[in-house]
Amino acid sequence: MSQYAMQKSAKPTRRSRHPYELVRRAGREEFHGNLKVREILVGGVRIGGPRPVVIAGPCSVESLEQTVDVARACRDAGADMLRGGAYKPRTSPYDFQGLGIEGLEILAEARAQTGLPIVTEVIDPRLVEEVCRFADVLQIGARSMQNFPLLVEAGKSGKPVLLKRHWGATLQEWLCAAEYVAAQGNLNVILCERGIRTFSQGTYNRNTLDLNVVDAARRETFLPIFVDPSHGTGVADLVPAASLAGVACGAHGLMIEVIGETADPAEAMSDGYQAIRPSMLRDVIERARCCATAAAQEFIR
Ligand code: PEP
Ligand code: MN
Repeated sequence: MSQYAMQKSAKPTRRSRHPYELVRRAGREEFHGNLKVREILVGGVRIGGPRPVVIAGPCSVESLEQTVDVARACRDAGADMLRGGAYKPRTSPYDFQGLGIEGLEILAEARAQTGLPIVTEVIDPRLVEEVCRFADVLQIGARSMQNFPLLVEAGKSGKPVLLKRHWGATLQEWLCAAEYVAAQGNLNVILCERGIRTFSQGTYNRNTLDLNVVDAARRETFLPIFVDPSHGTGVADLVPAASLAGVACGAHGLMIEVIGETADPAEAMSDGYQAIRPSMLRDVIERARCCATAAAQEFIR
């Protein structure tokens, strides 16, 4: 018997379950009546409701002073949560890898001084426990989207997870990654579109923000979805329009990289040129909230 024939005759060879049955919208609604979008509460911030939530902060935590200064400026500009990487997944091993535990302590101090909940990345399953001691939301970066052991550990932790989409992942692959977290009993997953790779890379942008996927994801899953216009464009000047467009397409929130009002982008340890200033952030947040109100009834809630 050929191997193919053996596979066909063996019992049972095919999965009878939907590949992302826990996070897909279809099926859930049958059992949960009016469950439309999953609401996730993080330190008093309501994610998944009609008001877009803004997560803002530096790409990397570089020092206490830098982080606290930017955190204060973000809060004063209207941001709801603070982001900042203590563990950085860098393309080159020679680039700044983050301050590690010291960075997490700095974030905790910034939270104490501003009241903003913390979103920070975890890149290694062995570090989930440590990062959980400081984070309010675990960020899983684009590069780690299919790090399955990491997804499982994040799921087991029970912390809300912000799951970024890999730049080459389909919507289905992304939702399967979310399913890994959900399968551990943790349905508090926030999806985040952060740009895909297209032919225009390096001409006027770094990534192409996939706005289509925002509405498509809203139809396919009840999980809230964010847009990251900073990585989604890679260029600070393109961030305001991309932010408004994201919200207009139905994003439940934005994740935006911010640099100090007078800081030199060339001096930032990572992503300086895609970070906007707090004054611009204030303007973006104000306009994004108007945009969300204007677009609201277009969307499944
Ligand atoms: C980041 O948020 O700084 C980051 C590394 O993002 P991504 O994983 O989307 O590249
Ligand atoms: Mn970054």
